[in-house]
This record gives sequence, structure tokens and C-alpha cells, in this order.
Amino acid sequence: MVETNHITYESLLSGNKEWVAKTLKEDPNYFDRLAAGQKPPVLWIGCSDSRVPANQVTGTLPGEIFVHRNVANVIAHNDLNMLSVLDYAVNVLKVNHVIINGHYGCGGVAAAMSDKQFGLIDNWLRSIKDVYRLHKKEVDAIEDEEAKIRRMVDLNVIEGVHKLSATAIVQNAWAQGQDLQLHGWVLDLKTGLINDLKVTCSSNAAFDKVFKIA
Ligand SMILES: [Zn+2]
Repeated sequence: MVETNHITYESLLSGNKEWVAKTLKEDPNYFDRLAAGQKPPVLWIGCSDSRVPANQVTGTLPGEIFVHRNVANVIAHNDLNMLSVLDYAVNVLKVNHVIINGHYGCGGVAAAMSDKQFGLIDNWLRSIKDVYRLHKKEVDAIEDEEAKIRRMVDLNVIEGVHKLSATAIVQNAWAQGQDLQLHGWVLDLKTGLINDLKVTCSSNAAFDKVFKIA
């Protein structure tokens, strides 16, 4: 487990000052450029888990990735927060890539696959049980419990990409000829490496009629 005893309220503020000093030493104009605006080419939708920060795991810096995170990187069509982030990213920032990034060892997915009550969050995680229902045959065929939950992490991301592709925000962008690709990734906490699930979607041409928005 990550040791966090050294983290205090005060250490966060002193850490900020050290980061500013170090950054300015390397690049005196860094914050002038940062304050001037953002044009990130990527929207990252990931899990709130503290071990999966978008910038660090992709070797990127502030200003390079627009980020939305929630517990278990759930895509819910009634989530105004996610939809607002998606709308701004696609229609204002004109990102070219939207990445849903799940991770193995996801407590949210594990909770959804249990029969226990966790309280309010059960409502949030219920859509992961729907992912299980859709893929029950495949998931039930996996005997190893850890492997089963790992596959559910994959499937939750894959269903998330599908749900994103069904939004008017994404389909309108495609209809207008915008270069917009949706991707599904999973990071393995045990190696730090990201696995591209190869479910990239960049048009609705192959969709069933009910998923197309005219
Ligand atoms: Zn997680």
C-alpha cells in the first residue's frame, strides 16, 4: 500500500510552493503560458481512485489532458457532470480523443460484483451490474474470481465507450465531420501499464438503427 503518513494539510501547501519554485527554475514563462488558456486534444474519463491520475500515468503535463473522474469510470446518461464535461470537451475544446480508462483492482467494480450493501454508492454502481447482466455468460465462464473481476473492468469500459457513442454530443460531432475517436483503456496497477482494449470508435456507420441519432 502507498505510504501516506507524511501527507498533512500543511505539507500539501508547502509542496505546492516547492513545485512552483522548481517549475519556474526550469521554465520562467511556464505559468504565463498556462494562464493564457488550454487546448488539450484529449478528454480522459477515469476512476476517482488515487492511484490512477491521468497526467502521471500518461507522462503528460497540466494543460495536456481534460479530465473527468468518478467512482469506477461509470458512463451514465443522466450524469449532468459527465455530459457537461463531454460537451465542453467536444464542442468547445474540440478534442480528437475521448479515452475511458478503467483499472484493474477497481474497488467500485469489485463492490458491484458483490452481494453486499455499501450504501448510497450502490445506486451509482448499479449500472456495472447491468454490464454483468449483458455479459453474464462470458463472465460466469471465468472461474478465477480475480480474473472475473478483471474482465468486468474491461467490459465496464467497453460498455462505457458504447454509451458515449450513443450520445447526441458525440454523434452530432461525427455528423459535422469532426475528427473524434472514442477509446477504451485499462491500466494494470500491478505493472503501471495501460492496455488498449482496441474498441476505438470513430463513426456510427456500423451501429444498429436504434443507436443512430439522425
Ligand atoms: Zn476504480
